[in-house]
Formats: sequence, C-alpha cells, structure tokens
Amino acid sequence: MKSLIDGLDKMIAKPVTELDYQDDYTLLISIMLSAQTTDKKVNDISPELFENYPNPDSIKEEDYEKIESIIRPLGLSKTKANNIIKIASLIKEQFGGKIPSTYEDLIKLPGIGNKTAKVFLVEFYKQNYFPVDTHVKRVATRLGKVNEKDSPEVVEKKMSQFFKNIDLAKRHQQFVLHGRYTCVARKPKCEQCSLTSLCKYYKESF
Ligand code: SF4
Repeated sequence: MKSLIDGLDKMIAKPVTELDYQDDYTLLISIMLSAQTTDKKVNDISPELFENYPNPDSIKEEDYEKIESIIRPLGLSKTKANNIIKIASLIKEQFGGKIPSTYEDLIKLPGIGNKTAKVFLVEFYKQNYFPVDTHVKRVATRLGKVNEKDSPEVVEKKMSQFFKNIDLAKRHQQFVLHGRYTCVARKPKCEQCSLTSLCKYYKESF
C-alpha cells in the first residue's frame, strides 16, 4: 500500500476537483451536471447558470425552459434541468434553504445518487469516502486491485479496505486525475507513470 501511496503522492501531491465552484450549492449542482460529460463543459456553462440562479431560492418551476437551454450543451439537459428545479424545491421545503451536509440527506435529493453525494462530501467536507467513477475504476482495475466486472460499489469497498480507510478523499481524487490525464482509456501514458512496478496491466503489456 505504501508504495502505491508514494507513487500517487509523487505524481499528484495536492489533488483538487477541476470543477469551478463558489460554495456548496454551486458545487453540488456542478457535480450533478457533470454526469456523462466533462468538468470543462460544465465550467463553460456554469457562470451563466449561477449568475441567473445564484442560490436555491432563486429557482422557480417556471425557470425550466431557461435552465434547460443554458445547460443544453451538456446533454441529458431535460433530466438535469428537472433535477435542478426539484433539488431547489426540496432544499427550500425540507432543509431550510441549506445544502445538506450528510450522505443520508443528500441522497434524498433528485439526481443525487451514491457517487454524486460522496464526490460532493469528499470535495467540500473532505469526508472519508472513495466514490468510484469510470476513471477510478479503470485505474483500480489496471493496477490489479479489482476485477473488470466488479460493480462500482464493490470497487469502492475493495479500495477502501485496501487503503485501510485512511485518507480516502485524497486517494479518490488522485485516482480521478490519474485516470483522466495519465492512465487514460485508449492508450495509457505509462511512460509518465510512477506506478509501473506495481501495475498488473503494465507487467502484462510490456
Ligand atoms: S503503469 Fe500505465 S496502466 Fe498502470 S497505472 Fe500507470 S498509466 Fe495506468
């Protein structure tokens, strides 16, 4: 475990999300919007979205069309616009206008599932979770720590155990960035990677 941590720390000493955000509200909505698209595309539209709708209070049902048109470049815009309106409404009705800060409350919000809730808690509160997205799963699989067919929940459990539940927020963010820029899907840049001596994929391929 130590050599993997050393390798990750060497490559990505201070991992942070690439989503632009100002507060818990803008972060949560941005993470929800990032499903099936890139952080960069979300950052391209988020200034206009949050200029028009700076907090849950500013969002009304009749704003659907305008919100949908702002977020259209991201794809799944009808579902995501509906989610924004329902999230704002629930936050006003059930959470006194404040973004929930616990996993149990976050997953009550429409469009906020296990992964989104934990990514939010990892980034905003540095809570000890290891949410699994496509990058995280690819890196964990290539390193030989999980199986190709493992579900995200199983990968999360295995990797949390592997890291002995220590510093999971940091490890999660390192895996995301490593998968996004180095251990990329089509042709991993193994020549730039500090994990070659630990990597199952590398040993089998070179
Ligand atoms: S050695 Fe290559 S395949 Fe293995 S983790 Fe590094 S980049 Fe990914």
